Amino acid sequence: MQNQFQQDLWKAAQGPWVSGILPSAENLARARASLPATLPDTGSSLESVQRHLVDDIVPAFNGGSISANYYGFITGGTTPAALFADNVVSAYDQNVQVHLPDHSIVTDVEYNALGLLLDLFRLDRSTWHNGTFTTGATGSNILGLACGREFILQKAAQRQGCHLQSVGEEGLFEVLNALGLSGVQVLSTLPHSSLVKAAGVLGIGRSNVHNICRADDPLRFDIDKLEKELARTDKVSIVAISCGEVNTGRFATSGADLKEIRQLCDKYGAWMHADGAFGIFGRVLAERPEFATIKKGCEGIDLVDSITGDGHKLLNVPYDCGFFFTRHPHIASQVFQNANAAYLAAGNSDGPSIPSPLNIGIENSRRFRALPVYASLLSYGKSGYQEMLERQIRLARKIYEWVFEHSGYTALPETMSKSELLDQTFMTVLFRANDESLNRELGSKINESSRMFVSGTSWDGSPACRIAISNWRVDVERDFALVTEVLTKVAQS
Ligand SMILES: *Cc1c(COP(=O)(O)O)cnc(C)c1O
Repeated sequence: MQNQFQQDLWKAAQGPWVSGILPSAENLARARASLPATLPDTGSSLESVQRHLVDDIVPAFNGGSISANYYGFITGGTTPAALFADNVVSAYDQNVQVHLPDHSIVTDVEYNALGLLLDLFRLDRSTWHNGTFTTGATGSNILGLACGREFILQKAAQRQGCHLQSVGEEGLFEVLNALGLSGVQVLSTLPHSSLVKAAGVLGIGRSNVHNICRADDPLRFDIDKLEKELARTDKVSIVAISCGEVNTGRFATSGADLKEIRQLCDKYGAWMHADGAFGIFGRVLAERPEFATIKKGCEGIDLVDSITGDGHKLLNVPYDCGFFFTRHPHIASQVFQNANAAYLAAGNSDGPSIPSPLNIGIENSRRFRALPVYASLLSYGKSGYQEMLERQIRLARKIYEWVFEHSGYTALPETMSKSELLDQTFMTVLFRANDESLNRELGSKINESSRMFVSGTSWDGSPACRIAISNWRVDVERDFALVTEVLTKVAQS
């Protein structure tokens, strides 16, 4: 028989232990007061440390991943298969850094999981099987811009007939100098903040990320302006496609324009990166009229050079997990290889040639974060993930329609008709309250209900709220009833 404490422990380690969407103020205060001021000289028993975690710390967690009604940010959840696998990962603590086929199966599993992801996204394995797992979409965006920077400067050197080994080898400053260039620029439309951060990290500079958007639509490229920037002779460029914009969930391109951008990038030697943190999941959907617009938004994504995707959002595996794909097999290793470390060289096997992860990504020692992805993909299959995403989209559209009809709220962007709005809705709902004073506190009023949580954001210069639906636990009817009940009450307050 397990005693109460063992049961508590088991429950805490399994989740869901947290009952509310946000922890109570008392639980937060109690947890904070329980944090030690300094490291004690002597350790405590395992049981007392476990008690501290379960009694003090866990009650002050939020239900972000556990509740189906946490709509802040885009958090996803953890599927049962992914949770099991993640516990296995911790228990066996495998380091996935060098491909050593006689030592462990882990690099094979990681490579296989990447292949399964490509299948999920309908990307051709023979073209795209050069990816890796990252800590998240931010990590993947760093990889994308780093590979792009390497590629476009090598192209520029070729054009000038200049001998260049690689930026990774010689250094950005030296290469720019040698080529008489003033810098690298990133051209995008409403990029995620992490892409701008990646530009900062990589010496490109945050101020060299530019919005090249049309006056009538901030999400779409102004193609003429884009060509003008690409044609500059003092800079080299990376084009970053917002394949799913974080506020609206809408897409920057729709197939034909992506082809046009590809042609321009080829003409001027630019790299195309797609940030599809959540948007790439549009490719999971079935060919049905109701999803046609979303599918169009990720159409032609196989024309880009690199793709960012997030595991801990719509794939519903635990933090931290992202993935990165590129069509170019050798670029990542030119940036990320460990120099002069023969002992890290990959071993050989009869199977596919699996690169050692440490030579194609940021980290050397790495967590086996592919295993939860692998387990969850096997557990749901293509149709399971399709069905999960369909539920999320249907809930988002049902809420949008309700908000659109409600006299107290405005569905955003305001310029769109109801049918346009519903047609383009992926899994986010953007809206505001018509009453200005209510709108200023709309997010906190909704969140005070403790029944659901939304993120505050701003749209067109005024506050707005965003519902992002990303959890595998979504139930359309149940969650629609809950959300509309809360929004009705808030509108009456
Ligand atoms: C969430 C998100 C990111 C950043 O992802 P992390 O997983 O938080 O690193 C980047 N791009 C887009 C479009 C996102 O939605």
